[in-house]
Amino acid sequence: MKKGHPKGLYLLFVTEMWERFSYYGMRALFMLYMVQALLFDKELASEVYGSYTGLVYLTPLIGGYMADRYWGNCRSIVTGALVMAVGQLLLFASACYFQDVALAKWLMFAGLGLLVLGNGFFKPNISTMVGHLYTPGDSRKDAAFTIFYMGVNLGSMIAPLVCGLVGNTGHPEDFKWGFLASSIGMLLAAVLFQCFRGRYVVDPDGRPIGMPPVRQAKTAVHTAEPRQAGSSHTVFMAVGILLLTLLFSVNWSGDGEGLWAGADWIGSLIYATVIVIPLAIITDRSLTRQEKTHIGVIYIIAFFVIFFWAAYEQAGASLTFFADEQTDRMIFGWEMPASYFQSFNATMIVILAPLFASLWSFLGRHGWEPSSPRKQSLGLLLLALGYLFIAFGVKNVEPGIKVSMVWLTGLYFIHTMGELCLAPIGLSLVYKLSPARFSSLLMGVWYLSTSAANKFAGLLSGLYPEEGIRKSFLGYSVDNLFDFFLIFVVLSGASAVVLFLFTGKLEKMMGDIK
Ligand code: GLN
Repeated sequence: MKKGHPKGLYLLFVTEMWERFSYYGMRALFMLYMVQALLFDKELASEVYGSYTGLVYLTPLIGGYMADRYWGNCRSIVTGALVMAVGQLLLFASACYFQDVALAKWLMFAGLGLLVLGNGFFKPNISTMVGHLYTPGDSRKDAAFTIFYMGVNLGSMIAPLVCGLVGNTGHPEDFKWGFLASSIGMLLAAVLFQCFRGRYVVDPDGRPIGMPPVRQAKTAVHTAEPRQAGSSHTVFMAVGILLLTLLFSVNWSGDGEGLWAGADWIGSLIYATVIVIPLAIITDRSLTRQEKTHIGVIYIIAFFVIFFWAAYEQAGASLTFFADEQTDRMIFGWEMPASYFQSFNATMIVILAPLFASLWSFLGRHGWEPSSPRKQSLGLLLLALGYLFIAFGVKNVEPGIKVSMVWLTGLYFIHTMGELCLAPIGLSLVYKLSPARFSSLLMGVWYLSTSAANKFAGLLSGLYPEEGIRKSFLGYSVDNLFDFFLIFVVLSGASAVVLFLFTGKLEKMMGDIK
């Protein structure tokens, strides 16, 4: 097996690093901007935030589809980055005029729309490109995606520091600098990629990759080829999503408020898409039996992964309340801000990713590497163990008493190891199992589980115990923090076990693919 990695991987690494810098830099300021500058109440701000983070992972389906069918990965990546840079500039403009709330709101929503759209073009395509750099049987792919994932987290680690420093000064007129920094990061991603892709983004034989499918088919053998899905499929998908969205939004309570009173349209749209699109893809007539089996594996794993991200995404929600209210953050007389905990995970990924990449390469060289489904199940198990660790930390602790930082830090450490077993390996697995002509679209399906998980995470986070409010989940009453954390132990632990039991079957379905 070859050692080292192609140079193109490092171009994708820095491009993704700057894009994630932009994404997470804006995200770090976004809630604060809505509440402190536009004076939204917390509930409305949370709703906008939740819809944004849900939609941002829904549009990769569109970007993946467009790339596989018409544009190829490279054009989609550059277009996506430029659209997002304009989106960030609109947020900058919004923050320049924040005193004129009506104008600022319009600018902000227009900016968010472009971010959602642009991310759809960028995210699945850059991920797919990583796989295109290698020949089909090359066992360096898991390590490559792990290195790429380090780029993701290097961007997310520095973003809140830089954008927070210039944008979150306590003066609402400074938010604009944070958004401007995000926009510059995104532009940098687009320029770097565009300038160097011709030289570095090539397959192992030196031929350019990520071209529009028709051109690509003439040059490389193992990347995209034109696909012939009927347009009736597109109509079927659109109608199916529309009908299911309407159905999921119906107000069944019979309170006479109206058929769609209080509907969560975005949530319904996400759940409808999760059902319709995978069905539409797997029934495509151009697929062979084996291709369908491989896509089936992607679906099964993507389903389990919803539970991973739903529990993991508590970091931005309930775990931040926990850091704020229940964790003793004093270090030598200095109280660490609760928000700092949010950068623990990215920092740990940056430190541990090279170790994991070498570990997979080492195991791969000796033929000891666990299969991808096993790594996924290990990731889920580590997530459960992280919650079990903190559940014991808070057991029998009286309300209002703060616990040591060791518990939260330990949880993040265990979760980071789980994430490294699951997230980059998942990207690699999706790539390896996808028929080339569907590779970006199926990457979009993979991100769809994050979209659904973000919605589900919001629901679970609402169970965080509060004085005087009775909370329960499927008949299970959540009276204290121990009960709360136990939900995640059970959810991810059970997913880990069930997935583990399936691994033999999944490995068989995958055939030669490891
Ligand atoms: N941290 C990852 C990223 O931003 C998470 C992606 C995901 O699938 N949830 O790329």
